[in-house]
Amino acid sequence: MDTPASAAALPTDTRGRALHDLRISVTDRCNFRCVYCMPKSVFGAEWRFLDRKDLLSFEEIERVARAFVRCGVRKLRLTGGEPLVRRQLETLVERLARIDGVEDLSLTTNAALLTPARAEALKSAGLHRINVSLDSLRDEVFKRINDVQFPVAKVLAGIDAAAAAGLGPVKVNMVVKRGLNGDEVADVAEHFRGTGHIVRFIEFMDVGNTNGWRLDDVMGAREIAEAIGARFPIAPVQPNYRGEVAKRWRYVDGAGEVGIISSVTRPFCGGCTRARLSAEGKVYTCLFASAGTDFRAILREGISDEALTQRVAALWGRRDDRYSEIRTFETDKLASLGPKVEMSYIGG
Ligand code: SF4
Repeated sequence: MDTPASAAALPTDTRGRALHDLRISVTDRCNFRCVYCMPKSVFGAEWRFLDRKDLLSFEEIERVARAFVRCGVRKLRLTGGEPLVRRQLETLVERLARIDGVEDLSLTTNAALLTPARAEALKSAGLHRINVSLDSLRDEVFKRINDVQFPVAKVLAGIDAAAAAGLGPVKVNMVVKRGLNGDEVADVAEHFRGTGHIVRFIEFMDVGNTNGWRLDDVMGAREIAEAIGARFPIAPVQPNYRGEVAKRWRYVDGAGEVGIISSVTRPFCGGCTRARLSAEGKVYTCLFASAGTDFRAILREGISDEALTQRVAALWGRRDDRYSEIRTFETDKLASLGPKVEMSYIGG
């Protein structure tokens, strides 16, 4: 039953997009309060996070992941909130690493808990690689962004720990917001140039409903590329695969590459092959969705693997998401769908 179906039998959505990536949020909790994702003013002491009983168990997550792999998924990414706050995460990594057909098993973290021992344990459990979020190299700016006074040096140490454990090259994600850290783009590029690690500069997005997003605060992909190119000439590179999120640029002098994720100025919905599973078992077919499909209930009612796979295929087959393409054109229609899901709830 585990062997993935032939390509012909795999589901595609209403725009002909296949399923390739499943992002699995294992918790809605985080030890940071990044202003563009989980502002303290909203996610404060009063905020009610998911109770443990509401979370999918590792066994349930594995069953859903297997159903998605049977429908074509090849990449699994663990996210949160902050995935490393979920206890015994290595047990889940072991389970997912055993799934036939998974070509890439990764995790996105803020590295606050990424000690050398933890990195080694994740690697031994079967994790392939790690993405680390780092939005500034200046302590005063970074602390203002993460809003828990967490220092840059500890994140850099986490990146070193990942590399030392064989989880590199690390993809370093930087959300670029004009007026906050936009002036640091070339500095961050310079810091990681020649290290083998790949910085991915992410346009500031209107995810969720709480980050006060304005188009004026978006530093677009062209501006980001120009800021880097002004210091180190870069040239575009072909994507690694269809649907790859980041547009790749290489340093002309051979010192490596960077990526730019341009959901606002250059939407890439046409090649979007990603689904997201929330920690309580809802599947979202778009990062900007307003509603998800509950799978926890059917899991706990004892659905068979076959029927579960059919549910995934049917859900994907109905999909027509292209939020980023219509973000500025169909605002009324999008507003009528209701509040968007929070990124901290389904992961980036
Ligand atoms: S906006 Fe939605 S459909 Fe478009 S690329 Fe992002 S997740 Fe995919």
